[in-house]
Amino acid sequence: MRVAFLGLGIMGHAMARNLVKAGHSVAVWNRTPGKDVEGARAAATPAEAATDADVVWMCVSDTAAVEQVLFGENGVESALREGMVVVDSSTISPSATLAFAERVCARGADYVDAPVTGSKIGAQNAQLIFIVGGSEATVERIRPLFEAMGKTVLRMGDTGKGQAAKLAANLMIAMIYEGFAEGLTLAAKLGVPAESLLSLVNASMVKSGVVEYKAPFVLKRDFSPNFPMRLMFKDMQLMLEAAREARVKLPGLKTVSEVYEVAIEEGHQDLDYAATLMLLEKWAGVEVSSAASGA
Ligand code: NAP
Repeated sequence: MRVAFLGLGIMGHAMARNLVKAGHSVAVWNRTPGKDVEGARAAATPAEAATDADVVWMCVSDTAAVEQVLFGENGVESALREGMVVVDSSTISPSATLAFAERVCARGADYVDAPVTGSKIGAQNAQLIFIVGGSEATVERIRPLFEAMGKTVLRMGDTGKGQAAKLAANLMIAMIYEGFAEGLTLAAKLGVPAESLLSLVNASMVKSGVVEYKAPFVLKRDFSPNFPMRLMFKDMQLMLEAAREARVKLPGLKTVSEVYEVAIEEGHQDLDYAATLMLLEKWAGVEVSSAASGA
């Protein structure tokens, strides 16, 4: 298939590379030039990348970025044709997604929201899980592209439902990690080594995929970004906004969001969201350390 891939950040770059690897004809565009993908044609604007494409795939930071790429100067809108599919793998507002889809569909194209989970490693290894909203027929049509970049496609319903489910799932990731970080901090302060706590976690019902993924990084104190804190914070604001729109109360999330706010004020925004631990440590006057590190 002919694909225009827009947004070559941590996720998008790896996703576009996997589309090329799978033999698709790919044109790429990134706001800041210089992030090319081997085997793909570099385009100067979103509209230029989208010209002649069957599918336009976006993976940019936030709602404003998607709006800019679609409807801003030299945006995708001017290149939309009957039969084209626009897919958005960014995590953005479900209600804005509906508004964007309406404008795209008015030009005869179709719109699928397909945010992802699996982080940087999942994107690199083509093991992403796509959380999809859109018509069944369109989702089937673009299945080869999903398969080139991921391992699972979970359709949540019509347009917008992918973003809604993604926010709900990320809410749980943020809260589970924060529970882990607070547990580690309390244990450290009370003299229990991180490894001992982890052996308890893994032997009991506390066991979790989030902890399994994050623990090795935390024990090495490697807070380089797999999923940058600024993006998790952005997702939290989307969750709180969606909750306000739907009249849902999320008191736990509100509190965790305040922890992120301070961690970002302290300059940790470009580290992984796991670095919220550093703020808890600072408040507690303790550092979580691995027994193996001898610290
Ligand atoms: P990233 O590395 O920060 O990349 C962001 C991309 O968006 C860059 O290509 C950036 O272009 C582009 N961008 C930002 N603002 C823009 C604008 N106004 N117009 C056009 N392009 C713009 O982020 P990422 O980690 O790849 O994440 C991308 C999306 O996937 C986000 O919505 C994120 O929440 C979601 N996501 C990320 C992960 C993860 O683990 N990283 C996991 C699941 C979902 P420049 O290069 O010019 O800045």
